[in-house]
Amino acid sequence: MYLKTLTLKGFKSFASATTMRLEPGITCVVGPNGSGKSNVVDALAWVMGEQGAKSLRGGKMEDVIFAGTAGRPPLGRAEVSLTIDNTDGALPIDYTEVTITRTMFRGGGSEYAINGTGCRLLDVQELLSDSGLGREMHVIVGQGQLDTVLRATPEERRGFIEEAAGVLKHRRRKERTLRK
Ligand code: ATP
Ligand code: MG
Repeated sequence: MYLKTLTLKGFKSFASATTMRLEPGITCVVGPNGSGKSNVVDALAWVMGEQGAKSLRGGKMEDVIFAGTAGRPPLGRAEVSLTIDNTDGALPIDYTEVTITRTMFRGGGSEYAINGTGCRLLDVQELLSDSGLGREMHVIVGQGQLDTVLRATPEERRGFIEEAAGVLKHRRRKERTLRK
């Protein structure tokens, strides 16, 4: 499994549709300060279901929508698509290529789709939960995050271990069931 393409449309500074093609192995994103490198990483987290505006370096969720520049008016929606190569079947779905899309409108919530079919956030989370990708998964290590791990309480540290061991998914299911 590897990330194949990432397309940003109206997401943060990427007003025009921009597609990045990735290869297996290491990809480096280089560019001057403020050119949008971290926005690309934010887009990755967002399309996989990130729910925290702060994790996306914004004040509110709508801040991910292109806010306009001197020469260009703001946009009404942000859309990010992530295509994952699944020829090794790492994702529990019968497709060799899986595209997750998240769309958000100003004043509205988010919509998700897997291979073009609308779905719930929960479906995206479940699809990714055994792959080590996705929301709250520590595949994206931001600045200052190492510090968070070092300063974590024993409960938080247990959370990291449960996540790594794949127990977290079952705990969430249990919590959901108990709430019903
Ligand atoms: P550095 O090297 O300093 O880390 P970077 O390449 O990571 O820089 P980013 O933080 O990805 O840069 O991009 C910051 C730019 O994105 C800023 O110019 C900011 O104005 C712009 N930006 C962020 N959100 C939006 C938005 N909603 N609409 C338009 N532009 C935005
Ligand atoms: Mg940056």
